[in-house]
Amino acid sequence: MALLEINDLRVSFRTSTSDVHALNGVTFSLNEGETLGLVGETGAGKTTTAMSILKLLSQRTAQYDGGEILFQGKNLMDMKEKDLQKIRGKKISMIFQDPMTALNPTMPIIDQIEECITAHKGLNRTDLRKQANDILETVGIPAERGKEFPHQFSGGMKQRVVIAMALVCSPELLLADEPTTALDVTIQAQILDMIQDLKKKNNTAMLLITHDLGIVAENCDKVAIIYAGEVVEYGSLEEIFDHTAHPYTKGLFNSLPSLEEKTDRLKPIRGLMPDPANLPSGCKFHPRCPYADEKCTQEIPDLQDVGNSHLCRCHHSNKGVGLYFPDERINEKAYQHDLPVSNPGNDILEKGI
Ligand code: SF4
Repeated sequence: MALLEINDLRVSFRTSTSDVHALNGVTFSLNEGETLGLVGETGAGKTTTAMSILKLLSQRTAQYDGGEILFQGKNLMDMKEKDLQKIRGKKISMIFQDPMTALNPTMPIIDQIEECITAHKGLNRTDLRKQANDILETVGIPAERGKEFPHQFSGGMKQRVVIAMALVCSPELLLADEPTTALDVTIQAQILDMIQDLKKKNNTAMLLITHDLGIVAENCDKVAIIYAGEVVEYGSLEEIFDHTAHPYTKGLFNSLPSLEEKTDRLKPIRGLMPDPANLPSGCKFHPRCPYADEKCTQEIPDLQDVGNSHLCRCHHSNKGVGLYFPDERINEKAYQHDLPVSNPGNDILEKGI
């Protein structure tokens, strides 16, 4: 049995003017000790997926429209709030994206770490302080700095505190929401190494949310590519990197700078993510896909197995893994393709302003 299994998860937000369809079919699973990279552009639904797992979305506006989130075989969507509170922070914990806003500015950091322990363990005062000090030392912060406030720490140190809070109760699943985005590159590598070491020590599974394929290549066992709230491609790291099947994933890879090829400019995928309040018909990627045909504009593709447990959501991907779109440079084709310019952002991208 998988530790976490998400099947066709759908979530929308009610606003005064329309329904915003944030998640429209998220499917993946994660076993004990594994790391899965959830990759996509800004606005694709990565953070909403993580927040949905812990049911942290606003109850006033968020609505679960379908699907299931099975953790150790139990559907979290059916669970009562008091049962969820026993899981949050203990069995599943989260490293939030921005350490500047994840910490309480009015409390010393040691008190914030102790709060997490107190919520799940009945320790006396001495043991509580010892455990909080130990986790601080583990993430590379001297225990005597525990009495300081978040504003007295650098960005990297604050992120270490957030990681300490997430790991202090040895969770079985860690949701890491772009844990290094707010940090500079040298600190990024240190933080990722530290998370990997702590994860290995406790055999913790991790959902690593990122838009950086380099981070995925170095840290993940499996990859799910998400676009407009749908997982469009999912499989092992080798399958996704060596046998890319979906045109969007190809576009992401082609957007990366190459060490072997001399190019004057990068090749972004033309256009922008669709408005979740007004999604296109058929395949949600069709306005940006140079391979789109009539069927793509009308019929929603299913997530289908194209071999080796490699799933792809494309009408034309079932003709052999990675072979249907052989050597085309999808981004170059996208530039040549006569696509309607539906958003002023396209001009900005095209002119490289
Ligand atoms: Fe492109 Fe059509 Fe495949 Fe969508 S279904 S990714 S539009 S070829």
